[in-house]
Amino acid sequence: MRRTLIVGNWKMNLDLQSARQLLNELCEGMESIAADDSLDVAVCPPHTLLFPIAKATADTPIHFGAQNLFHEPSGAFTGEISASMIAETGARYVILGHSERRHTIGHLEDDRMINLKVRAALAGGLTPIVCVGETLAERNTGETPDVLTFQIAADLVGVSQADVAKLVIAYEPVWAIGTGKVATADQAQQAHEHIRTRLRDQFDSAADTIPILYGGSMKPDNAGELIAQRDIDGGLIGGASLKAEPLLGIIRAALAARG
Ligand code: PEP
Repeated sequence: MRRTLIVGNWKMNLDLQSARQLLNELCEGMESIAADDSLDVAVCPPHTLLFPIAKATADTPIHFGAQNLFHEPSGAFTGEISASMIAETGARYVILGHSERRHTIGHLEDDRMINLKVRAALAGGLTPIVCVGETLAERNTGETPDVLTFQIAADLVGVSQADVAKLVIAYEPVWAIGTGKVATADQAQQAHEHIRTRLRDQFDSAADTIPILYGGSMKPDNAGELIAQRDIDGGLIGGASLKAEPLLGIIRAALAARG
């Protein structure tokens, strides 16, 4: 059975003090949740918090990761940060291809750039959480499967069979991110199944070990039904990861759903 993974994407939120407090509350809350070796929890803070979060999460069950990287190892790339710099903090994960970076921020990342980043992350020993998902217009015109097929193929060019164990995919329908609109369990399962099939095209049966997370307005009251679906292995959570109680609620719901 695949491991369940719950990842908080803090985006550009939380200062050092509030991040430490949130982690303390999360750790306390997790003590009262039955230990389960098949569930991993991680938070992805802004880059400036990576080292302090490494310290704050040492000796706790919480892992951490970054929200982006630049694909070159070093050089004249003002404002960027490399895979090895992130790995040096002790981070395990890096979110790549998030829809806010594809569609909203600055130079708008395309799949070629995301692929360079995925390969740099893997070469640097990080686990990329590769985000894919359709816009509302693409869903309304029935293009969701084609969009997912293209993104999976393009983002994973050159990823070898040996890298499969370090790969995580997140299905994040753009219309559900930060909007309060959540995909139904059926819509999400269909998309995840499609992604799994495309992963099998590239990686054969090893694809069955790749966790596929759902992201898009996941909350304690919808997490259970989503994570109970056959191909949904956890969540990538934005808004509900900024406070301990909703994130703990999602963790409890995930454990109950996968029971
Ligand atoms: C995200 O940012 O990846 C996300 C899913 O955000 P939210 O949970 O707020 O929709």
